[in-house]
Amino acid sequence: MAVIPLLPLFHNFNKSFFANSLAIDFEPIVKVRWSDNRLKTTAGFYKRSKVNGHISSEIVLSKPILESLPLRDIQSTLCHEMIHAWIDRILKTNEIHGINFVNKMNEINNRQDTFEITIRHSFPVQRKELKYQGKCLHCGLTYMYRRRMKNIACKSCCNLFFNSTWNEKCLIVFEK
Ligand SMILES: [Zn+2]
Ligand SMILES: [Zn+2]
Repeated sequence: MAVIPLLPLFHNFNKSFFANSLAIDFEPIVKVRWSDNRLKTTAGFYKRSKVNGHISSEIVLSKPILESLPLRDIQSTLCHEMIHAWIDRILKTNEIHGINFVNKMNEINNRQDTFEITIRHSFPVQRKELKYQGKCLHCGLTYMYRRRMKNIACKSCCNLFFNSTWNEKCLIVFEK
């Protein structure tokens, strides 16, 4: 499926909500792009890196998560990441979802009702597969996990035999 171009949205938001601070002569100071098909764990992110002493920052929106959602979800995700870019590049403050973020988010939400920015992106994210099998040392029951866990104990054994507390006799072990 084709995705909508992000730059027109970026310039529009930059003008309306960020006093044009995120572009110089219509050239964005932060790159904006769609991800490839692999970004499935978050709807979008902002990141800054330093390459040869030169600061480069970009906003990446998840194509697989957002492409089938309504425009307002793309708008709210892009605007969310633009607030991160603005805090980092313009305010030059080290903050994630702190007071500057919340104030800007509320200001933008109050000024329009096309979309709503939230602190967490609440779109359906594809969760990792349950592909790791762990086995209780005590009762031999097996459980499926999304990753290898350390020092977790079998819930049913803890409840039945160890007073509902963690006990190393019923650790869950993973095959190599
Ligand atoms: Zn955020
Ligand atoms: Zn057990």
